[in-house]
Amino acid sequence: MTTEHHPNCIFCKMVAGEIKPDIVFENDQLLAFRDINPQAPIHFLIIPKQHLPTLNDLSDPSLAAQLLLLPSQLAKQEGFAEDGYRTVINCNKHSGQEVYHLHLHVLAGRQMTWPPG
Ligand code: AMP
Ligand code: ZN
Repeated sequence: MTTEHHPNCIFCKMVAGEIKPDIVFENDQLLAFRDINPQAPIHFLIIPKQHLPTLNDLSDPSLAAQLLLLPSQLAKQEGFAEDGYRTVINCNKHSGQEVYHLHLHVLAGRQMTWPPG
């Protein structure tokens, strides 16, 4: 896997160690860190280290599986798996995506509502 570092991408800067987020998990492929503007008592983001702008750019099945498996692993570790949580991936304009480096939100610690805004 080639990990291309995009110099103007804030999440690539975290992967490169140029910005130090509050990291909750790291392995070869993924980085998870606390959201700077949390929308719930627990709110972190899981990103692939590889710069993929949106979910539309994700095609590696192994990476996709890792991305989908990590939320429950961290939820069990941090003790909110049973109470529950919400995962969100915003994609492009209609979703309100703000950072164009693929990320999965994990939100927990309060009752969520549906439909989302
Ligand atoms: P989205 O709207 O899905 O693109 O979400 C982007 C998220 O990244 C927002 O929840 C921001 O609060 C979060 N965010 C932006 N900059 C940082 C940062 N430096 N550290 C942690 N989270 C960030
Ligand atoms: Zn990036």
